[in-house]
Amino acid sequence: MTSTMPDLAGLTSEYSAHNYAPLPVVVATADGVWVTDVAGRRYLDMLAGYSALNFGHRHPRLVGAAARQLERVTLVSRAFDHDQFGPFCAELAELCGMDMVLPMNTGAEAVETAIKVARKWGYVSRGVPRDEALIVVFDGNFHGRTTTIVSFSSDPDARADFGPYTPGFVSVPYGDLTALSAVFAEYGHRIVAVLVEPIQGEAGVVVPPPDFLPGLRTLCTSAGALLIADEIQSGLGRVGATFACNLEGVVPDAYLLGKALGGGIVPVSAMVSSRSVLGVLRPGQHGSTFGGNPLACAVAREVIAMLRTGEYQQRSAVLGASMHERLAGLPSSVVSSVTGRGLWAGVTFASLSGRAVCERLAALGVLAKETHGSTIRLAPPLVISEEELTWALDRFEEAALTA
Ligand SMILES: *Cc1c(COP(=O)(O)O)cnc(C)c1O
Repeated sequence: MTSTMPDLAGLTSEYSAHNYAPLPVVVATADGVWVTDVAGRRYLDMLAGYSALNFGHRHPRLVGAAARQLERVTLVSRAFDHDQFGPFCAELAELCGMDMVLPMNTGAEAVETAIKVARKWGYVSRGVPRDEALIVVFDGNFHGRTTTIVSFSSDPDARADFGPYTPGFVSVPYGDLTALSAVFAEYGHRIVAVLVEPIQGEAGVVVPPPDFLPGLRTLCTSAGALLIADEIQSGLGRVGATFACNLEGVVPDAYLLGKALGGGIVPVSAMVSSRSVLGVLRPGQHGSTFGGNPLACAVAREVIAMLRTGEYQQRSAVLGASMHERLAGLPSSVVSSVTGRGLWAGVTFASLSGRAVCERLAALGVLAKETHGSTIRLAPPLVISEEELTWALDRFEEAALTA
């Protein structure tokens, strides 16, 4: 049996570019919070596709919506309208409390869209001199992998050797309103937008001080700059609310969504904003062959319908509280800090490497991934049961405490 099994990890290593360093698990099937590898071993998925799998693997409602749409039409391109497109845009705008939607596919494309729209809005609506627009970002940000986006990354691995870099960005320390005020004082007339993750995911699930987002809102409003919330990872139920901005009572000028919007089935992303902002675009100025395709819209409409019930936000809030209580009980000699909201935690180890703990966890039947260095992100699907969560946290404690 083993001798006839192809060496799948070997094929991956031989023929795929080494832009990831995967754990030694080769997944064959998945259902809900569980994945099964090619050898038949089961693992509880505590990464959930970086929150693309908020509803778990192959949720019956989402698979049903996809299957029904596969029988109808999957792609028309935006050269023509289709019967899923208008309803998808209307329903997503309503979920976000905004006017308009511009759909793309990957998160990075939604971010690129926001950069283009904010610049054009600055020139045509704010009267910023052509090619002088500035967008403020934050140290430790993660907004994707395109050339422009890595231009304002502070992660040397993400950025080094990929220059020349796109100009037009200023980075300030995350959570630092004083530094931000100074940047506004110096460049205010050129700043068209502030691009922020309300909670920084890849940086290690970093929650800013409580006055930060409200302060950001005030500064943006008084300077006439757009507040653009990248909720690609924090949004759609992960934090115990529909959006992380909700937790602070802050309403941004635009949401950027991705990951869970596609239900873990298809890539779907979007910029969602007001008529005055998205209204600056004219035909031919932006687009995507696959953006807003019928299959994507059908799955995303089901995601939106599921979020409208509030059930998943509620599960995340309740189960998240017990997860954080449990994690807070780990000895500080082993775990130096726990951050996050809802079913989303960044656990930083005092001396263990995140990778070593993740390898131990995998051996115990739990999949998780270090964000970098000694921080592990825990982000189980929001459909996880209390018993499954307890089981996973028992394994987590075992991996952390038995060095
Ligand atoms: C994952 C992520 C992105 C990029 O999404 P891709 O689909 O990988 O391009 C952008 N912003 C945030 C906050 C993310 O977590």
